[in-house]
Amino acid sequence: ADQISEGLKKYGDLASDGRPILDCTAPQLVEEVMTVSGDNMVFPAHVWTPWFSLFGAFSGFDTVEDCYQDMTKHIHALETGLSSDPPMNWRLSKLDHYALLSNSDCHSFWPWRIGREANVFDLPDLTYNQLTSAIIDNDPERFKYTIETDPAYGKYHWTGHRNCKISLPPAEAIKFSNNCPVCRRKFTKGVEQRVEELADRPADYAPKDMPTYKRLLPLSEIICAVTGTNSPATQTIWKPYNQLIERFGDEYNVLIEAPLDAMAAVVDPAIAQAILRVREGTAKVTPGYDGVYGQLVLGIEPLKVKSKAAAVAKVQQKSMSDFW
Ligand SMILES: [Zn+2]
Ligand SMILES: [Zn+2]
Repeated sequence: ADQISEGLKKYGDLASDGRPILDCTAPQLVEEVMTVSGDNMVFPAHVWTPWFSLFGAFSGFDTVEDCYQDMTKHIHALETGLSSDPPMNWRLSKLDHYALLSNSDCHSFWPWRIGREANVFDLPDLTYNQLTSAIIDNDPERFKYTIETDPAYGKYHWTGHRNCKISLPPAEAIKFSNNCPVCRRKFTKGVEQRVEELADRPADYAPKDMPTYKRLLPLSEIICAVTGTNSPATQTIWKPYNQLIERFGDEYNVLIEAPLDAMAAVVDPAIAQAILRVREGTAKVTPGYDGVYGQLVLGIEPLKVKSKAAAVAKVQQKSMSDFW
């Protein structure tokens, strides 16, 4: 790590923040890192995020090769980010030989944003080389699955105009030639439409012998939706959250394994029911568009929350804010 820092510091101030801005090209960056050691691994993060990403709708490239040029040979994986999941990436046959990772880089210091996405491995020994070789081989025996947040939550999933209150899936937006019927200006293009433009396969395509995925949501966000609270920064959220963690050990165990009855014995049954619906994929999400976050739709009335807690929630940030 010290050698990598040494090699990169001539391009910018590495200490500026967790994501320093470097004055170099993508291939230059890869070359610097790989010169330190051939065992190093570089892969692009949240490749579909509209702003500043590999395929981003606002500034991206159309292929991995356009971005990394002669250094493409060192790229073995793409990190799908919160704005995309494996099925969206499977639609591009030219991405078949990349492993699809889901990391949880936490730009925000709020602890509940850690671990929203994850990679699940089954390795004989947890070593650096076993980890990277499972990724490079993209072997479903060792790289089992990823945990994904529903990409519809993203602020730019569908195409539309926030001020005109128009939100459309790609096929509908194309019918309007990407022009807003209200204000006549061009729509803000969403991630799904960007995928649609570059895809050469239908939306339901699923490859064989690849790591699979589970679609989950952070427990704090589920409890927010059930209680009708705007922010995870309140006791309304943390009381049932901590009760569940205490009973079942950790958040993934609650989200993936904990039986309904056992959860309902610890917290309000409506929360237990909502966790089950997210786990089974029956909870709906109204897709985000043009800077508006997607919303979890449980189809139930929010629980009555004590007015003081609700008042606190109002002054806090909006739900799903800071999502990217
Ligand atoms: Zn990031
Ligand atoms: Zn408009």
